[in-house]
Amino acid sequence: MLSGLRSKMIVYIQEFDKYDNSGKLLCRNTKCTNHPVLPYKKYCSKKCNREFRRWYYHNFFWDRVRSDIFRRDGYTCQICKKEFLFKYRRKFVRSANLECDHIIPRSLYQQLGYKYDTLENKIKVTIEFFHNHSNLRTVCRDCHKQVTSTFLSNKFKKEGQGIILENS
Ligand SMILES: [Zn+2]
Ligand SMILES: [Zn+2]
Repeated sequence: MLSGLRSKMIVYIQEFDKYDNSGKLLCRNTKCTNHPVLPYKKYCSKKCNREFRRWYYHNFFWDRVRSDIFRRDGYTCQICKKEFLFKYRRKFVRSANLECDHIIPRSLYQQLGYKYDTLENKIKVTIEFFHNHSNLRTVCRDCHKQVTSTFLSNKFKKEGQGIILENS
């Protein structure tokens, strides 16, 4: 269920493409209204290219977000406080034993008033909730299994009180 949810909820970089009234592609950088200039196919300048890509990867690219959380937490499980080995793969930190946990589960986004339909709403829910660093923490595999199963068992207890997960 989690992996299915994750793969459906990606904001791809191409989704930020925008066009002028005559259908010509504009610079991808959010507030820029220039046309792309070579050698950039999607940006008007080096500045827009760097600025937009930095913003995009920092906020929307899960490998990068997860890597930032592992680094912030010192590669240490925030529950059992054990530190784990890590390695870099394509600039991003990976660890066989560490996972990045959503403190408030992603699946509750609709109950929290978020929508995942228009690009504007996708940006909002991703930045404010799914990829918000304060909703993320580093946990080891074993602790992650425990918090997930505790959450699921609490969910069944609380169903009568209106906390119901969809798709589960
Ligand atoms: Zn631009
Ligand atoms: Zn742990």
